Amino acid sequence: MDSVVIAGAGPAGLMAAIRLKELGFDATVLEEDKAVGLPENCTGLISCTGAAELGLGLKKCLVNTVRGADLVSPDGTTLAIRKKSDVAFVLDRKEFDKSLYEKALSAGIKVELNSKIIDLRQNTLFFQRKERGEIKKIKVLVGADGPLSAARKLAGINAPVESFIHTYQERVKGDFDRKKIKMYFGSFAPGFFAWVVPESESIARIGLGAAHGINPAEKFAEFRQKTGLEFETLDKKGFVIPVGPPLKSVCEQNILLVGDAAFQAKASTGGGIIMGMQSALKCAEAVADNLKDGKPLDRYNKLVSGINKDLKVHWKIRSFLNSQSDEQVNKLFSKAKNAGIESFLEEYGDMDKPSRFVGKILSKPRLWGLAGLAMRLR
Ligand SMILES: Cc1cc2nc3c(=O)[nH]c(=O)nc-3n(C[C@H](O)[C@H](O)[C@H](O)COP(=O)(O)OP(=O)(O)OC[C@H]3O[C@@H](n4cnc5c(N)ncnc54)[C@H](O)[C@@H]3O)c2cc1C
Repeated sequence: MDSVVIAGAGPAGLMAAIRLKELGFDATVLEEDKAVGLPENCTGLISCTGAAELGLGLKKCLVNTVRGADLVSPDGTTLAIRKKSDVAFVLDRKEFDKSLYEKALSAGIKVELNSKIIDLRQNTLFFQRKERGEIKKIKVLVGADGPLSAARKLAGINAPVESFIHTYQERVKGDFDRKKIKMYFGSFAPGFFAWVVPESESIARIGLGAAHGINPAEKFAEFRQKTGLEFETLDKKGFVIPVGPPLKSVCEQNILLVGDAAFQAKASTGGGIIMGMQSALKCAEAVADNLKDGKPLDRYNKLVSGINKDLKVHWKIRSFLNSQSDEQVNKLFSKAKNAGIESFLEEYGDMDKPSRFVGKILSKPRLWGLAGLAMRLR
C-alpha cells in the first residue's frame, strides 16, 4: 500500500512531498503530464520575503529582480511604489518547477509521470498511466492538481465557473524598466487587471485576466490599444486562475487539498506560488501527525488558519475592486495618492500579507481619509 499519494508535481505538490519526507514519511507523486514544469502558464513573480521564508534556492531559475510597482488607474493616475531594496523575483517558472522536481528525486521521492488521477473510492485510487487504467491502495490523497483539480471534485467541493479568471499572456520584445512591474486597472480587464512584468530591458511578460465568459485575448487587444503600449509578440498562452475566498474546508475524509486546488492563491493578484507552498508545509505536517500519532487529518484546516487570514484580505481587496466603476477607481487612486499612500506602501507594503498593513492605515492620521476602505478590508 502507498500510504500517501500526492496528485500533481507543481510547486505545492512537490513541496508537500519534500516536507513529508523531511518529517520521515514517503509519498508517491502522480503527475499527469509527461514532464514537470510544462506547459508553463505563469508570470513567475514571487516576493523575496516569501522565497526567504521558504528557503527557496533560485539560482537556476532567477530571471530578474524588481524593486517597485506602478499601479495605474483607468485615467492613467499612477501610484508609484518604490522600495529601497529588491522586493520580488521574476522566475523562469519551468526551471523553478524542475529544480523542485530534482530536489524531490534526490531526496528519494517517487514521482510517476504520465499518471493522472481519476477517482478515489475510500482507499482505492484509480488513475490512468499513459492509456492504461491502474489502481493503488492508499491511506491519504493530497490533491495538488492545480486550479481544475480532480481531487477537489472527489472531495465533493464545488467550484463554480465564476470563480475562475481566464488569462491571456504574451512574452514580448520592447522597451521596459527592468526594475518595476506595472498593474493596470480598468474595465478592459473585467474582474481582474492587466500586468507588465519585465524579464529585462527588452523582454517582458504582459498579460490580462478577465471574468468567466469574457475572452481575455480580445480584452488584451483592447488594453493594448488603450494604453498604446508598443511591443512585438514572441509567444502567447492562456490559462485560468482560481479567484475566490479561501475554501471553508481543505480536508474531506482522506483527501487534503493544497495550492491552486485549494484556492490558496491571492485573489487580489492571482499569485499562488508562495501561498501554495506555505500551505504545503502545513499539509505535510497534518499528514505526518496523522500517520505518526493518528491525529485527525482535518487539523490541516486549523494549521492554515493564519494563511487564510491573508487570503481573506486578498479576497476583500478583489471584491472591492470588482465593485468599483472606472470612475470610482480613478477617484480612489487620486484620493490615495493625495493621502500619501505611495510612501506608506513603500514602508509597510507586503505583496503576500496585506493583513499586516491594512490595520496600520488606521494608525496613520494622514491616511484617515482611507479609513472607510481599510475597515472594509479588515
Ligand atoms: C497567467 C498566469 C500568471 C500567473 N502568475 C503568477 C505569478 O506571477 N506569481 C505567482 O505566485 N503565481 C502566479 N500564477 C499562479 C500560479 O501559477 C499558481 O498559483 C501555481 O502554479 C499553483 O501551484 P500548484 O502546485 O498548486 O498547481 P500547478 O502549478 O497548476 O500544478 C498542478 C500540477 O498538477 C498536475 N495535474 C492536474 N490534474 C492532474 C491529475 N488529475 N492527476 C495528476 N496530476 C494532475 C498538472 O499537470 C500540474 O503539473 C499565475 C497563473 C497564471 C494562469
